[in-house]
Amino acid sequence: MEQTFIMIKPDGVQRGLVGEIIGRFEKKGFYLKGLKLITVDQSFAEKHYADLSAKPFFNGLVEYIISGPVVAMIWEGKNVVTTGRKIIGATNPAESAPGTIRGDFAIDIGRNVIHGSDSVESAKKEIALWFPESPVNWQSSVHPWIYE
Ligand code: GDP
Ligand code: MG
Repeated sequence: MEQTFIMIKPDGVQRGLVGEIIGRFEKKGFYLKGLKLITVDQSFAEKHYADLSAKPFFNGLVEYIISGPVVAMIWEGKNVVTTGRKIIGATNPAESAPGTIRGDFAIDIGRNVIHGSDSVESAKKEIALWFPESPVNWQSSVHPWIYE
């Protein structure tokens, strides 16, 4: 089944939003397949955001991501990449709909609380980068109550 990489950024951890955010993915019906609280260093953050290295905000973005612990997660389910991005909301919280994580909990684009992979291909790359160890293999017993 499809997987995505979701990361609660340092502001989300500092502001005590971890439980709220995990709850939204759990209650939707997605399965948690990886979870860790870690701090990353500059070269790791630059690798994660390599596609944005030419952007004027790149250095600030890297500083932000390494400024404190983050919660790195793998979530699994049908269309979880696209649906995960919808749960998260638009990149700029000023444009994120109410009911989305960024719409409900963020103000500035440079403090937008959460990351989610933008495609199945990026999800695979990001999961490999953040979870080099073999993931825990488990299946949810409620599967038939969520999927027809
Ligand atoms: P995302 O996939 O929605 O997270 O957005 P992007 O991949 O385009 O950008 C990655 C992250 O860089 C965003 O989540 C923001 O934290 C940050 N970012 C993007 N655009 C800007 C910008 O114009 N200014 C600042 N300060 N940060 C930005
Ligand atoms: Mg992105």
